[in-house]
Amino acid sequence: MLTITIWSEIEIPQLILDKVIEALTPFISHVEVFDIDLSEVIKKFYNTVRGQVDASKLLDYLEYTYPSSGFLHKQVFVVDEDAYVKGLNYVLGVARYCGSHAIVFTPRLRQEFWNLPPSEEIFLSRLCKEIVHELGHTLCLDHCLNPRCVMRFSNSVFETDEKDYRFCNRCKLKIEHLFQRKLL
Ligand SMILES: [Zn+2]
Ligand SMILES: [Zn+2]
Repeated sequence: MLTITIWSEIEIPQLILDKVIEALTPFISHVEVFDIDLSEVIKKFYNTVRGQVDASKLLDYLEYTYPSSGFLHKQVFVVDEDAYVKGLNYVLGVARYCGSHAIVFTPRLRQEFWNLPPSEEIFLSRLCKEIVHELGHTLCLDHCLNPRCVMRFSNSVFETDEKDYRFCNRCKLKIEHLFQRKLL
């Protein structure tokens, strides 16, 4: 069963944890959350010209610094900084495919970033979907064409709003098969 550790720079309400658990049932045993301040670490991977963090380098660093106890232990870092990877203007999150580590970047999930009136509800809904989406990649899932599936690729947060925080049946079946293989 999966154990998920969320390291977060912002407060994560219980509501989000409940939804993460729901999305990953029956594969999950529990979620734990810890506060973290990554501001010193982020300085090392901050591109001052772009005003963004290099997401790939930060992921490498976090993997090395916060080792996971195995494939079934996933760690998600919620970072309050904007980020990019080579070739993309920005990313909402990154994950090690079939690995254990993922990062979600929060600034662009906020309505105010797009000059819209703030909404905690919309922000938390997006945060939840991004966390589940990146966890899906750590569970070897690729992007899904089902428009409601959490694994649907979103080019922008407005596309994120159109999908659900849960996996479609096909993606859930893929996780089930993965577990059967891994637990043999
Ligand atoms: Zn993705
Ligand atoms: Zn799917």
